[in-house]
Amino acid sequence: MSLPPAERLRAAGLKVTKGRVAALESLAAQSHATAEELQRRIAAEGVPMTLQAVYLALQVLTDAQVLRRIEPAGSAARYELRVGDNHHHLVCTRCSRVVDVDCATEEAPCLLPADTHGFAVATAEITFWGLCPGCAEEEGAE
Ligand SMILES: [Zn+2]
Ligand SMILES: [Zn+2]
Ligand SMILES: [Zn+2]
Repeated sequence: MSLPPAERLRAAGLKVTKGRVAALESLAAQSHATAEELQRRIAAEGVPMTLQAVYLALQVLTDAQVLRRIEPAGSAARYELRVGDNHHHLVCTRCSRVVDVDCATEEAPCLLPADTHGFAVATAEITFWGLCPGCAEEEGAE
């Protein structure tokens, strides 16, 4: 994370609270984590937060675009610190591992439908699904 959590919060015009700082720190340690995963990590750091409080902090941070939320089909919402760069995700269909991939064009929308039906298309959300190298190897061994 390029900026310390407190500075990130101030830059976004948000109040610096223990919970928000803890959420950002735990995400720096584990990207694309779910709220439950973050709550466990935060608790392990000695900051007890209810799941509700974690969700609320994540919501505020997402609304302020300090965080990005992704919702791969069949998965709980996941959060990350990498915002505003139109990157995409590779998701493993077996272990749910999520990996960032740069957008080939960087500009949104990097893909247009064959027919926009008059929509001013702003973004294309792209998720690539498949087996990660570890799972591909295990499948091959089975
Ligand atoms: Zn996998
Ligand atoms: Zn990502
Ligand atoms: Zn793209």
